[in-house]
Amino acid sequence: MLGMMMDQPLLISSLIEHAARFHGDTEIVSRETDRSLFRYTYADASARAKRIAKALQRLGTAPGDRVGTLAWNSHRHFELYYGISGTGRVLHTINPRLFPDQLRYIINHAADQILFIEPSFVGLVEKLVPDLPTVRHYVIMAPKALMPATSLPNALCYEDLIEAETPELEWPRFDEQSASSLCYTSGTTGNPKGALYSHRSTVLHAFGSCAADMLGVGAADCVLPVVPMFHVNAWGIPYSCPLAGAKLVLPGQHLDGESLCTLFDQEGVTFSLGVPTIWLGALKYADETGKGFSSIKRVIIGGSAAPPSMIEAFDKKHGVRAVHAWGMTEMSPLGTAACLKARHAAASPEAITRVLCSQGRPSFLVDLKITDEAGERLPHDGVAVGNLYVRGPWVVRGYYNDPDASAEAFDAEGWFKTGDVCSIDPDGYVRITDRSKDVIKSGGEWISSIDLENAAVGHPDVAEAAVIGLAHPRWDERPLLIIVPKEGRTIDKPAIMSFLADKVAKWWLPDDIAVVEQLPHTATGKLLKTKLRQDFADYKLPTA
Ligand code: ADP
Repeated sequence: MLGMMMDQPLLISSLIEHAARFHGDTEIVSRETDRSLFRYTYADASARAKRIAKALQRLGTAPGDRVGTLAWNSHRHFELYYGISGTGRVLHTINPRLFPDQLRYIINHAADQILFIEPSFVGLVEKLVPDLPTVRHYVIMAPKALMPATSLPNALCYEDLIEAETPELEWPRFDEQSASSLCYTSGTTGNPKGALYSHRSTVLHAFGSCAADMLGVGAADCVLPVVPMFHVNAWGIPYSCPLAGAKLVLPGQHLDGESLCTLFDQEGVTFSLGVPTIWLGALKYADETGKGFSSIKRVIIGGSAAPPSMIEAFDKKHGVRAVHAWGMTEMSPLGTAACLKARHAAASPEAITRVLCSQGRPSFLVDLKITDEAGERLPHDGVAVGNLYVRGPWVVRGYYNDPDASAEAFDAEGWFKTGDVCSIDPDGYVRITDRSKDVIKSGGEWISSIDLENAAVGHPDVAEAAVIGLAHPRWDERPLLIIVPKEGRTIDKPAIMSFLADKVAKWWLPDDIAVVEQLPHTATGKLLKTKLRQDFADYKLPTA
């Protein structure tokens, strides 16, 4: 017997429609390249999204066609999120920090028909044009007066396209399983792989992410996503804020500590999200000036492991709850978030810190398991460490047009292999110890590079740290700690060693410390350990 409820497809257009109807005067603030602030409302954004949707039809695109964007977190980018996907076209957000070869690869692999480009990326795209046979139109996301001189063929002006249309449009109704957007993983080896999200997965993810123990976004919030809209949809914020009716502040291209903190205070931001490197800059500015966190209540830290010293600094110095979260492009991206349970009311401060420093518990609809090398399940006892697998309605079931990568990504039961290594405790809290390819295997046991790095950045002289395993004749591999000192500080190696001594097991202590000026990062701000391993391939450990 079937239930008797309305059969209404979960479509992305319903999010902006809801915001325009019931939060029509709630503001969206967008910082322009010249740092001026542009302000309008959900009702305005909805009308302009409809106009751009009509412009896309006029430019000859059909449902299912891919339309690319190279853009910052800006109001025009927000309009494209709905203008492109709302009528069944597929929004392909492109990470401009990828290497030119990767950009060529993904634009051709996606077969983008139109590229929307913010002026600061025009030079980048001009160099690629000869190799982009599928692209028929280049649209520059600027008003007429600010159109840059460009060699892009027949460059169109975004505001001209908007001007030419009226906002009368009923968003079409179609299958909720239709593709809505496409995002490529930056991939440290091999070609980038495309995660192709659906309307259904995106709406469910938006719903899930608003839950109190995930992002907990509500209509009283003012949200500033520092995480880019060109990488995993800014962790879904452009969808969850309209769902919740939250004010949205889009920071554009200036993401240094001062620029962010100024905007936080000016706009009364209550909630923000970013990777650890972004928070390093903001915390430094706030420490020096006492500004930046006057209205913020919560921040989300994810994308790489948040060092406990950072979570503590937010709490102790600024009264901000830092929520550590974990996810992946392939998971839309949210998987877990570190919020407390009722029982923690009676827990010791140390126990609470330990919970808050974990990657957190899974969201409803995200299922997790860990396995040993043979694929056998390991217990969720907080001790066993194994390969992490996930499944759920916002997890990919394959990669876009990539049968080889798809074949390798799942186990026989259809679970997605994350490539992360972790423990899961009986309460569901995940503790990621490594990427599987970064695990350091010493004498048959594993050393967590993340734990060592977290301990090292707790030292006041250390700005950033990376740990890699180097070949060792006796132990197979031993850890080398590579440190970037804080400005004006010098690294006293014995002092660092004794600082680490009571924070990790004795046999985990690095065999040596190297000091460098900077560490290599991927296009999404993660430590590029493949490059570090190459750079240090000939390094001789004193113990070897
Ligand atoms: P990329 O394009 O760089 O692959 P993803 O966002 O998909 O971008 O990267 C996902 C990976 O980032 C995860 O598999 C994990 O290794 C790492 N990661 C994300 N959040 C955390 C976290 N809170 N702690 C540790 N690692 C994290």
